[in-house]
Amino acid sequence: MTFKSKKILIKEKPKENCAVFGVTCNDLGYSVSNIIYTGLIAQQHRGQESAGISILKTGGQIYTYKKKGLVSTVLNNKILSTFWGNIGIGHNRYATTGSEEYTTLDYIQPYHIKNNEIEFSMAFNGTIPNYLDLKKNMEEMGKVFITNTDTEIAAQFIASIALGTEDWPEILKIASKFFDGSYSLILLTPEGDIYAMRDPLGFKPLCIGELKAEKRNIYLVSSESCGIDAVGGKFLRDVEPGEIVHLSHQKDIKSKAVLKRDRSALCQFEFVYFARPDSIIDGVSVAEARLRLGINLAKKDPLLKDPEFRKNAIIVPVPDSGRSVAVGYAQEAKLPYAEGLMKNRYVHRTFIMPGQAKRKIAVKEKLNPIKSVVQGKDIIILDDSIVRGTTTQQIVSLLREKGGAKTVNVRISCPPIVSACYMGIDFPTREELIAGRYQILYGNENYIEKVRKTIGADTLRYQTIDDLIEAIGKTRNQLCLACLTGDYPLKSVKEIAELENSIAMSRIK
Ligand code: SF4
Repeated sequence: MTFKSKKILIKEKPKENCAVFGVTCNDLGYSVSNIIYTGLIAQQHRGQESAGISILKTGGQIYTYKKKGLVSTVLNNKILSTFWGNIGIGHNRYATTGSEEYTTLDYIQPYHIKNNEIEFSMAFNGTIPNYLDLKKNMEEMGKVFITNTDTEIAAQFIASIALGTEDWPEILKIASKFFDGSYSLILLTPEGDIYAMRDPLGFKPLCIGELKAEKRNIYLVSSESCGIDAVGGKFLRDVEPGEIVHLSHQKDIKSKAVLKRDRSALCQFEFVYFARPDSIIDGVSVAEARLRLGINLAKKDPLLKDPEFRKNAIIVPVPDSGRSVAVGYAQEAKLPYAEGLMKNRYVHRTFIMPGQAKRKIAVKEKLNPIKSVVQGKDIIILDDSIVRGTTTQQIVSLLREKGGAKTVNVRISCPPIVSACYMGIDFPTREELIAGRYQILYGNENYIEKVRKTIGADTLRYQTIDDLIEAIGKTRNQLCLACLTGDYPLKSVKEIAELENSIAMSRIK
């Protein structure tokens, strides 16, 4: 692969952090569309750009509807009553490039393949970094692609395997051997089956549940367990890394292991930021992990030992993702917790809004300091992470200039994000990451102090990697920590990361 093609691999595709939701019901006279709608609404935080649904109607036809917009606007009552059937899947999508091209219908999921030989619909959350290699091989065999997404390539790759066998677990098992990526996917077939697969390292969450009703047996599959809770379902278990689960509307749940690895790599950022606090991922409550992140930060904070500082100090969360962390911190610090920032709930999450310009405007629209709470106070503000630094800088400035805070001390539940993520999360280059850039510029000893100066805080403390791992309750070998360590668990990514890193180093220095 040439240098140029590697750059294309990094830059040209939209990366995603999406949500999938699937439902099967044994009652042919019952429609699952509303359940899918509710499951997607509960997971709106994972993607706000587009939504879609594929429903299997009586007679074995799959019908797909998808559009740009929030779930509530895309899947309105008219659509839900039109797309009527007892089995279906849905998808929320987040494309991080902000390019209009990536929000056209071809890029929106579920991805529905239908030709003379094969039909299925697929909802995919993740990324396959080696997708261009797969694309090249398939193009050489005459395949033509509409988009430049790994989702289409993954779907077409699965379709090409499916020409040779009807054994879906086997098809997915073969595909997984070629996909060196981080993904959870669900697939709906015209036979009325849903197959759910999690990559062998288990980067993205995926879980199954059931909904028992009189004469009805409903099985559910969801990115996060909050989707199962939202529809009144019972959480059964997580899909294991490298497992294919077959949800049948007629029979029980069947499982087939794909590949066993000696480690897993669940994304730590799910606990820090992405997942909803009421979700449970791989046996860990996200809310409790965030609480422990706060406790761990407070335990080692030297500022809390200063009696003069304590007299005037309050703990303020950045709503909403800083809240559980701030509660844990305040509990351990034994200092008052106060809501000192008002959030406008009708503005989307800033981190997952495509484009830096949009993000900047969104912070001002989204947050306002509550002067009566913060004026004259020594504030310890808790946030989940510092990515580019812009948001934190604006929050510090709002508290100081507009709110009249005496001092603003920033505490971050995620350790410094110093390396790019090639596994689907939108902090693509080291140069864009304030900690990554400053680490190169100023070295390990000095870069955090430089970050503090840039964001304008009086003091700044990050979580340590060991304390993060302890708070999540997993081992180092069960988590992906690549954006914190630069140590990438995927083979196809190591080489790209090294190249990108050396480019960043030469550009920055
Ligand atoms: S690099 Fe970071 S954000 Fe990306 S998958 Fe790993 S832990 Fe998650």
